[in-house]
Amino acid sequence: MSVSIDLSGKTALVMGVANARSLGWAIAQQLLAAGCRVGFSYQGERLKGELDKLLAGHENVWTQQADATSEDDLSALFGRVKDEFGGLDYLVHSIAFAPRAAMDGRFLDTTEADWNTALNVSAYTLVSTCRHAETLLRPGGSVISLTYHASQKVVPKYNVMGVAKAALEATTRYLASEMGAADVRVNTISAGPMRTIAARSIPGFGTMYEKAAEAAPLGRNATPDEVGKLALFLLSDLGSGMTGQTVYVDAGSSIMAMKIEN
Ligand code: NAP
Repeated sequence: MSVSIDLSGKTALVMGVANARSLGWAIAQQLLAAGCRVGFSYQGERLKGELDKLLAGHENVWTQQADATSEDDLSALFGRVKDEFGGLDYLVHSIAFAPRAAMDGRFLDTTEADWNTALNVSAYTLVSTCRHAETLLRPGGSVISLTYHASQKVVPKYNVMGVAKAALEATTRYLASEMGAADVRVNTISAGPMRTIAARSIPGFGTMYEKAAEAAPLGRNATPDEVGKLALFLLSDLGSGMTGQTVYVDAGSSIMAMKIEN
């Protein structure tokens, strides 16, 4: 089945595409296929080559370096958005980071520095990017980010990143409550485990991936393409009545308390 959505004339900024496996790329592909003009920001020059390769042959795209924790980088990035697009319809925040040490050991041993880094990069940057985007976002505009169910239930080793995702989900509600007056919606997508660079840095991710698929009512994990399709729904007018929500795309694994074989 195919649903076609025409986003020609619309503009989007996608933050956090590291390579072809990135969830940000799955979302960007849907936007590009719908005719949307898309700007991309990447954290370090190390990633620019990968992004340039992905974008080869695409028109209506541009890229700019921006560390989301840098106010200067965000000012320059949204200055570029203004120059390129004049205004913005869609903002995609697909960014998270926690130091490996904070996920290797016990949650009890989380250091203040690692806590601050994880919460700053993975949750506060949604606040700062929305503040920079505020005057550019047009009525009917929409913001999405990516979260994970470890915000609600304990996932061993996810540790401080679970706290950061809980902060991201609460942040989504507070931003939605304030940005709704300008007819801008803010939602977050709770994706099941997917094999990306960020996921590979989580100790025991392979086991987590297998267990989630076993528990899921659909008997598999959701795919990046399915994340992209939900993103398209939430960003576009199809999702016009929804804001402040955490929306799951995980083949249903989060609804299961346990799985018992018959
Ligand atoms: P990914 O491809 O590694 O994307 C994460 C992106 O965040 C990378 O491009 C990374 O850039 C960027 N980033 C980290 N710190 C940054 C900073 N200070 N400024 C700007 N960019 C920064 O992995 P992904 O799995 O697609 O992650 C995207 C989002 O999906 C994250 O919020 C993640 O938590 C969420 N998510 C993932 C899964 C999963 O299983 N994969 C499930 C649920 C939710 P660098 O590579 O330069 O660090």
